[in-house]
Amino acid sequence: MADFPTTARVVIIGGGVVGVSTLYHLAKMGWTDCVLLEKNELTAGSTWHAAGNCPNFAPNWAVMNMQRYSLEMYRSLADEVDYPMNYHVTGALRLGHTKERRQEFERVAGQAKGMGLPLEMIGIDEVKTYNPFVETHDLSAVLWDPLDGDIDPAQLTQALAKGARDLGARIERFCPATGVTQKDSGDWIVHTEKGDITCEKVVNAAGYYAARVGEWFKPFGGRDVPLTVMSHQYFLTEEIDEIKAWTKENGKKTPMIRDVDSSYYLRQDKNGLNLGPYERNCKAHWVTPEDPMPHDFSFQLYPDDLDRLEWYIEDAMERVPVLGTGGVGRNINGPIPYAPDGLPMIGPMPGVKNAFEAHSFTFGIVQGGGAGKVMAEWLVEGETEMDMWSVDPRRYTDYADDNYCHAKALETYGHEYGMHFPHKMWPAGRDKKLSPVDAKVRELGGQMGAYNGWERANWFAKDGDDTSTEATETWEREGPWQIRVKEECEAVRDGVGVLDLPGFSRFNLTGEGAAEFLRGMIAGALPKIGRMNLAYFPDSQGRILTEMSLIRHAEDHFTLITAASAQWHDYDILDKYLPKGLTLTDITRDFSTLIVTGPKARDLFTAMGTDADLTSGWLTHQSATVAGTPCKLARVSFAGELGWEIHARMDKMPALYDAVLAAGATPFGMFALNALRIEKGYRAWKGDLSTDYTLLEGGMERFIKFDKPQDFPGKAALLSEKQQGRKQGFATLTIDNPGPADAPYMSPIWVGDEKVGETTSGDWGFRVNKSIALGMLRSDVNTPGGKVEVEIYGERYTATIQEDQPLWDPQNERIRA
Ligand SMILES: Cc1cc2nc3c(=O)[nH]c(=O)nc-3n(C[C@H](O)[C@H](O)[C@H](O)COP(=O)(O)OP(=O)(O)OC[C@H]3O[C@@H](n4cnc5c(N)ncnc54)[C@H](O)[C@@H]3O)c2cc1C
Repeated sequence: MADFPTTARVVIIGGGVVGVSTLYHLAKMGWTDCVLLEKNELTAGSTWHAAGNCPNFAPNWAVMNMQRYSLEMYRSLADEVDYPMNYHVTGALRLGHTKERRQEFERVAGQAKGMGLPLEMIGIDEVKTYNPFVETHDLSAVLWDPLDGDIDPAQLTQALAKGARDLGARIERFCPATGVTQKDSGDWIVHTEKGDITCEKVVNAAGYYAARVGEWFKPFGGRDVPLTVMSHQYFLTEEIDEIKAWTKENGKKTPMIRDVDSSYYLRQDKNGLNLGPYERNCKAHWVTPEDPMPHDFSFQLYPDDLDRLEWYIEDAMERVPVLGTGGVGRNINGPIPYAPDGLPMIGPMPGVKNAFEAHSFTFGIVQGGGAGKVMAEWLVEGETEMDMWSVDPRRYTDYADDNYCHAKALETYGHEYGMHFPHKMWPAGRDKKLSPVDAKVRELGGQMGAYNGWERANWFAKDGDDTSTEATETWEREGPWQIRVKEECEAVRDGVGVLDLPGFSRFNLTGEGAAEFLRGMIAGALPKIGRMNLAYFPDSQGRILTEMSLIRHAEDHFTLITAASAQWHDYDILDKYLPKGLTLTDITRDFSTLIVTGPKARDLFTAMGTDADLTSGWLTHQSATVAGTPCKLARVSFAGELGWEIHARMDKMPALYDAVLAAGATPFGMFALNALRIEKGYRAWKGDLSTDYTLLEGGMERFIKFDKPQDFPGKAALLSEKQQGRKQGFATLTIDNPGPADAPYMSPIWVGDEKVGETTSGDWGFRVNKSIALGMLRSDVNTPGGKVEVEIYGERYTATIQEDQPLWDPQNERIRA
């Protein structure tokens, strides 16, 4: 025990592929004074029994980038660390059965091309030239990824471990962590069965045990880890003569297939096949008191449950008939952790300083390489190269309780290959947080969507409208909602609309020095007392961390309002550097908001009866009484029309909503708001605004005050960028001859065969009657009037680059009216 480490810079709890990859990347970044603790042998959790499939494909931009990085790294890892591995790059055929699936494939193929990946659509009649055992009935599309394959997960983990050890990092096997204590300095003591280790930072990489490890952090600000353990199976056949003969003749394995609409993968394993379904009738484990999670499940499996797989086996036998000729060799039924959306948790642990998380991986083998890089960046640099919000643990807040997590895990697992259509709202885990006027909103026809757990109307249906989920299963803009969204936008354009908006994240900041603290955090200036403005928080490279509305009540008293989904992320940004003496309080649940906007908004307030000064200008705020109810009015409009936001305590909302409706406002929903804001070029957080872009690239120069005396994060980087000139910049595009769909997030933009940018959001603007895309363009092509091509679900559309100003009301006369 003499050489047991008692100090380390970082302690990682968990020796699966993800923890070990994190250690390896830390060591590569020069942080070799790090220790990984594994309670058993490395890989004892989910890693040892994984099938090891390694696709590039992901329906999520950040995750696809992470997988791309992993695969590049895996191809050279064996040589780099001198540890031979079984890694078969077989290529894979992804099979689709519907038009929508073809569109999904084409979209991802376009994104992949933009990333330099060789994914391509192939003809259905070409399938057999890639894999002669595959039948092609019912297919609509086939996507070929020549770089897909399978890797031995245990060898991969050992290779990473060797690389980490060779660089000087330490791995302590058979050394369970048993708890943590945080010192006043913020450092940690990690307790183990072999002794304590004091460290600066700690990582929970405990796989399906992560919720249990997460419990230790609760006294230091932690929360219940939103994770459900699912049972996932694959079965292996015995040797199949035809497969053996083909492999012998061709000197390679057959390419894998993923029949995603039937929901399984099928690949060659030795000379047999491996079938892995994601069944609709799936099963969670360890979610009830009668089925407690064992203290230790190292290297164990669940009992076989082949009944659940029956339909999938039959379907697969029709697709690949030789499957039926191989006897069942072995079934593997192992635990796999699911976050509610099926994406991993990689990043800061919500509410806990100097603690991080890298767990809940459903595809940890393919994502492990990239995840290790991302986690190491968080630890060493405090920020990541690419924007990783979609896997940030702070995306789930207080509503993600056990019931929610369980319901979502079943839904997500059962639709592992499901398509995430822009107008589709998934049904599980709903109604977690309700507006005080929720019942009224639904009575009016509100078709609801969940935003950080808060239910908001997306659109308002009328009698006879098709409100089924099936109707939303399209990538196209046309659907039952479209006519209603148009009417809602027109009501806002011509009259006045009201949007009930519960769940705006809201923080109160007070204390002497609050103003000075904010000046050092944001790029721009503070509003004067009685006024409000938008503030941008850059990271150390001048990239866009977040945007908040600052409402200033007094010299050192502010309310900060931000997106619903940004609640814990933005609180964390403020709390991380909060000086002693200042008080920061999350008051999100105490207040709600009505957006009242349109050219007749002033008349509406007058009709309701108010003591507010309705002449006070844009970006002012005031306490007032409206229809006899006390509230706060803020003169802003994300819709780009004359208007006020009414902010009031929850219990005041029913009276205010009734009064606004009685005075004649038309209810509108989030779909309309999106269409309205995009015409104004207003950016949406984690679409248009992300750490993928600097403030200057994002076109935010007017929100930067370079000459203020305070330093702020990223100031030097932004100054240098300004001197040297931006490489890329924000652009508004309109599609010249729009097709059936508007540009989704991260659609590639081309000039000829060169990728010159990507969209960050797109929608139809009803006031200007155009399909609009916001995005980022290389500076040399970003000239108003210039033409580019936007690739939307595989089709290229010519688009015109617009002037750097809103398409609707470019002089902002309507909002200032
Ligand atoms: C049947 C099946 C097939 C799969 N196939 C694939 C696939 O083809 N491709 C793919 O990408 N993914 C696949 N997966 C998923 C993959 O296995 C996981 O995503 C991945 O292994 C997760 O790695 P991890 O490091 O996060 O967790 P784990 O491998 O579970 O590692 C966590 C480690 O933490 C250790 N630990 C826990 N508590 C403590 C403590 N207190 N102190 C010290 N150590 C502790 C555990 O012993 C464990 O070794 C599959 C999963 C299953 C179940």
